[in-house]
This record gives sequence, C-alpha cells and structure tokens, in this order.
Amino acid sequence: MDFKKFKRILSLIVKYGVFIVAFPTLAIVILRCPYIVPFLACDMCPVVDCPSKYHRREFVAFAIGYIALFRKDFCGWVCPYGTLNDIIYKIKRKFSKNTFKIPLELRLSFNFLKYVVFFFIIIAILNGNPRYYIPIHTSTLMTSIKLAFMTAGSAYYARLLLILVGLSLAIVVPRFWCRFLCPYGTAFQLIKKGVRKVKNEFKI
Ligand code: SF4
Ligand code: SF4
Repeated sequence: MDFKKFKRILSLIVKYGVFIVAFPTLAIVILRCPYIVPFLACDMCPVVDCPSKYHRREFVAFAIGYIALFRKDFCGWVCPYGTLNDIIYKIKRKFSKNTFKIPLELRLSFNFLKYVVFFFIIIAILNGNPRYYIPIHTSTLMTSIKLAFMTAGSAYYARLLLILVGLSLAIVVPRFWCRFLCPYGTAFQLIKKGVRKVKNEFKI
C-alpha cells in the first residue's frame, strides 16, 4: 500500500473513530452543557459525567499532534461535530441526490448571522461565559436529559433551538452549522485569514 492510500485510510479511521468515541460527549454537550460556550469552563463544570471534563486535554494534544504530523485540517478531519454534519448530509444524499444552491441574498444573511452569533459569544466570554440554569443530575444520560427538558430555563432552550436548527439545515446545506453558526469555526476562519494576510504582507 502506498503512503497516500495509507494516509487516506488513516484519516477516515481517525475521523469516524473520533466521532464514535466522542458521541456521548456530543450528546451531553448539546443537551446538558450548562455554559453558553461549551469546553471553556470544563474544570469547574458540575456535569461530572461529561467526558470532556476529564479527557479534553488528551484530545487537544492528540488533535494538535495529528494535525501537525499529517497536515490535516481540524474541522474537516477531526472535529466530531463537523463529522456529525457530514453524516447527516450523507444520509440525506442516500435518499435524494438533489442539491440546494443557497441564493446570494440568503448566503449574505447567513454570513451576517454567523458574525452575530460570534459577536454574542465574544460578549458572553467577556462576561465570564455565564452558566444558565439547568438541573445537574448524575444519573443515566436519558434520565438527566429528561430532567433538563422538564426544568431548564429559557437560555437552555434558546441554545438548544439554535443547535437543532443548525443540524436540521445541515440536511439540505452541507455543513450548515460549521459554515454559518459555529463560533469555533468562525474563530478558526478569522485566524486563518489573519495568518494569510500577514504572510502576504511580509511575503513569507
Ligand atoms: S465538562 Fe461541562 S462545560 Fe465542559 S463540555 Fe462538558 S458539560 Fe460543557
Ligand atoms: S466549524 Fe465548528 S463544529 Fe464545524 S468542524 Fe469546525 S469546530 Fe467543529
């Protein structure tokens, strides 16, 4: 097997392997994370059954090592939430090959929405990434999710709605969440643009 083929197979194993391993974390983050921005306050988070609380450093170290070694893009090849978007779109393609081209006006509105979400997230971070009310119950995942549904406050539902809308639109627009809503994705894009600009400026 040549190196190119090996690299391709390894990339797919990593992409879907990370997704399978991280799936319970994704479910907890979507349905139970009590912070506006997940992953930033894991050390003091009361959701003691969230794997991110204990394993995110290892994950970050693995992702950095893997990306550096194999020159892979985090969003395309590592992030389990991005893979979830891909899976949703692939399942849709099994049923319909029709593609949806986003009209320009809609694309501009989505781009605007992206920066509104990003701006809101920056404000939330500057305000200490507030924690909203959600019952912290360590039981089975399903029981805790049920309890959250019954008793959480409106901020919880607003965030959940945004996530569900993003995932639903990923059925018709590939990676809708990643392209137009994810604040981490927007931050990565802005960093990349900044680096490119500096490189062009100094002809590096
Ligand atoms: S440990 Fe807490 S803050 Fe971190 S991702 Fe999990 S639920 Fe969210
Ligand atoms: S844009 Fe966000 S959700 Fe999508 S792959 Fe990147 S970090 Fe993950």
